[in-house]
Amino acid sequence: MLFGELSGYYDRLSSISSRLEMIELMSEVFRKADKGEVKSIIYITQGVLAPPYEGVEFGMAEKMVEESIAIATGFSKEDVEKEYRKQGDMGQAAQALKEKTRMRPMRAGRLSVNEFYETMGKIAGMSGAGSKEKKINALAAVIGASSPQEAKYAAKYPLDELRLGLGDATMLEALSLAYTQSREKKAALENAYNICSDLGLVGETIALKGIQAIERFKVTLFKPIRPALAERLPTADEILEKMHGKAAVEQKYDGFRCQIHKEGRRVRIFSRRLEDTTEMFPDLVKAAIEEIRGDKLIIDGEALAYNDETQEFLPFQETIQRKRKHGIAEKAAELPLHLFAFDIMMLDGEDLMAKPYHERREALERVLKGSMTLQPSTRIITSEPKELEEFFERSIENGLEGIVAKELDSRYIAGARKYSWIKMKRSYKGELSDTVDLVVVGYYRGKGMRSEFKFGGLLCATYNEKRDVFETVSRLGSGFTEAQMVELKRTLAKQVVKGRPVRVDAIVEPDFWVYPKYVVTVKADEITKSPTHTCGRRKQEDGTEAGFALRFPRLVGDEAIRKDKSPEEATTTKEISEMYENQKRVKVADS
Ligand code: AMP
Repeated sequence: MLFGELSGYYDRLSSISSRLEMIELMSEVFRKADKGEVKSIIYITQGVLAPPYEGVEFGMAEKMVEESIAIATGFSKEDVEKEYRKQGDMGQAAQALKEKTRMRPMRAGRLSVNEFYETMGKIAGMSGAGSKEKKINALAAVIGASSPQEAKYAAKYPLDELRLGLGDATMLEALSLAYTQSREKKAALENAYNICSDLGLVGETIALKGIQAIERFKVTLFKPIRPALAERLPTADEILEKMHGKAAVEQKYDGFRCQIHKEGRRVRIFSRRLEDTTEMFPDLVKAAIEEIRGDKLIIDGEALAYNDETQEFLPFQETIQRKRKHGIAEKAAELPLHLFAFDIMMLDGEDLMAKPYHERREALERVLKGSMTLQPSTRIITSEPKELEEFFERSIENGLEGIVAKELDSRYIAGARKYSWIKMKRSYKGELSDTVDLVVVGYYRGKGMRSEFKFGGLLCATYNEKRDVFETVSRLGSGFTEAQMVELKRTLAKQVVKGRPVRVDAIVEPDFWVYPKYVVTVKADEITKSPTHTCGRRKQEDGTEAGFALRFPRLVGDEAIRKDKSPEEATTTKEISEMYENQKRVKVADS
C-alpha cells in the first residue's frame, strides 16, 4: 500500500464519528494492505514506532519539525511558525504550505507504507553529535517528496499527534473483521494482546498465520504481560462469597509493580504501565540473577523499601525516591528494595498462565526459597470472614494498604480487572478508599484568582470499556498547585481540538475540548448521582436520566499528569458504578 493511500484513509477516519464505521474503514485498510505491511500500519496509526515498552522515541520537538517543513517547502521558519499558529496543528500547517510552495517533488505519492515506516524509524534512531540537524534534514526529505496530504501525516507522526481516535479495542475489532470476516474474534485477539503487549505483533500474526495462531498465542520472555488487576469489595463476607467460600488472602503492598523477566544473566523489569524500568533497580536485577532458583521465568510482584533491621516497611513517600534517572546506585544503597512476589507466569520456558493460582504459588515459593531480597507475599488461606478481617487489620498496622484476596483455582488473567483478585483497602469516614484515575477531556478558562494562569480546572472522564468511549464524571477545580496549573495549561493547550472529540461522550461543554490523552489522579469524598455527567448514565426510578459524579474532587500526587497511564488504563465507568454500590453498602453497615 502506498503511504498516499493510507493518508487518504486517515483523512476519512478523522471525519467520521461512529466507532462502527471506524472499525469497518480500518479493516478495509488491513484487507487492502499487503500482509507484510500490517505491522507498520498499526504502529503508524497508533503514532508509535514500536510497542510502547521498547521506549523508542522520535526525539523531535515542534521546533525541529517546523524547520523540516521550512526546508521542504522553501518558506522561512517564521512563516512556518505563523502558519502553525494559524492552523493550531502542525500537520495542517505542513499541508497548507505544501499546497502553496512552488517546490514540486519528483516522486510525490510514490512512497510505500513500509518505506515510510522504515525511514521514520531511521530518523528516530539517529543519535549523537549532529543528530538534531540530521533528523531535521531527513524529515525534510520525506516531507519534500510528499504530496500535501502525505506531508500532513509525516509532520504529525513524530509529534505523536495523529489523533485518529483509534483505541486498542477498535484496532483489535478491525483486525478481527479484516481476517475472520466478523468482529467476534476480538476476545481471542485481546487475549493475545494482553500477553505480549504488542499490537503490531498481534496484527502481523493474524495477517500472516491466521486466527489459529492467535488462539494458540503463548507468553514470550522479555515481552511484558499486561498485568492482572484487582476488583474491589468492601467487606470480608462479600469477598469470601464471591470466591466460593475460600480464598488466599495476601498483604497488599504499595510500591512499584515489577514484572521480572529472567533468562540466565539477562534480566528485564517492567512497570505496571509496561515501561522498562530495569536500569532503576540494580539491586533487584542482582538478586534476580543470584538468588532465584530457576530460569526462563516471569515473576510478578511489588517492590518496596524495607528496613531489614527493624523489619519494617518504609512509607510510599520513601520508596518513591527510588524512581529516578540519576544517582541510582547511591539511592539503592540508602533505600534497598524488597520484592514481594505474588505470581509467576512462566517457569523453565513453560507458560503457567492457565495453571490454577495454588499451583503457580507453589512454583513461586520453590524458586524464591532462600532469597532475602525476593520473597513471596505474606498470605493466609481462609474461609472465615473473621480471620480475613484480622489479617486485614494486621496488614494495616504493619503500614500496608490492605489485602488482595485471590481465588485459589483461577488462572492469571492478563490485563483485566476481574473478581479472581479482589482488593480491600482501609476506608476513612467520608472519603473514598481509592483514588480514581481520570482522563482529561477539556479544560476551563481561569476566572478571578485563577485568571493569571488562564486555567480554571479540568473536565474529566472515565473509560467505558464496552463502548470504548470516555464519559464525563467530574469538573475538577481544586488540589492544583500554581506550578501544576501552569504545566497543565501549557500541556493541554497543545491538545485542544475543535469540538467534542469523537470518543468523548458529554453533556457539559468545557471552554476548550482536548484530545483524550492525559490521565490525572483524583481523590473524592463520595460518588453521587448527577444529571450533568455521562458516566454510567441511565434512567432513574423517578424517570429522569442521571450519571455518576464525584463529590469534592481534588487532584492528588506530585505530578499533575500521570505519565505512566494511558487513557484506556483510567478508572472505568464500571468501576465507578461498583464503587457507588460498595459505598451504599458500607453506609448501611455503618449505621
Ligand atoms: P490498585 O492499584 O489499588 O488497583 O491495587 C492493585 C495493585 O495492588 C496491583 O496492581 C499491584 O500492583 C498491587 N499489589 C500489592 N500487593 C499485591 C498482592 N499481594 N497481589 C496482587 N497485587 C498486589
